[in-house]
Amino acid sequence: MAAPGTLSSTVDWDAPCGRCGYNLRGLELRGRCPECGAPTWLSVGDDSLASADEAWLRRLQAGAATCNAALLVSVVLLITVSTLESRVLRVLAAAAGAAAYAAGLWLLTAPNPAAFGHERRASYRRIARAMLLLAAPSSALSVAGLLGAPCGAALLAGGILLSPLGLAGALGVMAWLHVASELARRGGHAALESRALLIGSGYFFSWIASAVFALLARVLMPAGALLFVTGATAVAFGLAALWLPFPLARVLREARLERNRTERPHIIEDDRAAPGA
Ligand SMILES: [Zn+2]
Repeated sequence: MAAPGTLSSTVDWDAPCGRCGYNLRGLELRGRCPECGAPTWLSVGDDSLASADEAWLRRLQAGAATCNAALLVSVVLLITVSTLESRVLRVLAAAAGAAAYAAGLWLLTAPNPAAFGHERRASYRRIARAMLLLAAPSSALSVAGLLGAPCGAALLAGGILLSPLGLAGALGVMAWLHVASELARRGGHAALESRALLIGSGYFFSWIASAVFALLARVLMPAGALLFVTGATAVAFGLAALWLPFPLARVLREARLERNRTERPHIIEDDRAAPGA
């Protein structure tokens, strides 16, 4: 008997259809559920990225590529533009980079249309997207503020980051890194899986500590020094989070190569109607 997840031609174990629950035992692996017409493969395949929906994988790859390009172009642009001494250009470059990066993250948190609404950790993906919409403008403003003018604007930017919108951002970073960690797990990269979780939690908790010390610093002077330490820690974790789409791009590329090598069945376009995002 073939175990679930192996590439035999028929389903020779009890396997419920992912969409309607019909027992698919005895059916062709490349066939369809006789009750609802969903491709059999979707219900019995393993959850590795190499077995995932091809179009979804392409979307995630496009997302990772967009984030990476946005980051590299922003770094080059900011170095070039900063020599021009133009505040407007610096702010525009930062805003364009942040917008492109956010668009990439939106693609990277796309729902898997072939999951029939049974995605693992779907709530993390939804939180990441909601917080992205909520916090991206404030984060862009903070970066723009830091680059626009060095002194007063930097304080203002710090204020925005430590506001409720900043909390939305911190929650979003943690949720997104849970999504990234799940992708790494499904791609078979255990080290990246735990690294993503560590960065996500690190950013979130150093943000919470910074917010607490920022409040305390108004009455207790020593809290100011602690705020500096936790703030720097949050920035370090934040930078680590920004670079994560680079290893993720590699995980996704490997998954698609593996997918093509083992010639897993391709999912037909019409069958992607999934309930809920
Ligand atoms: Zn069915």
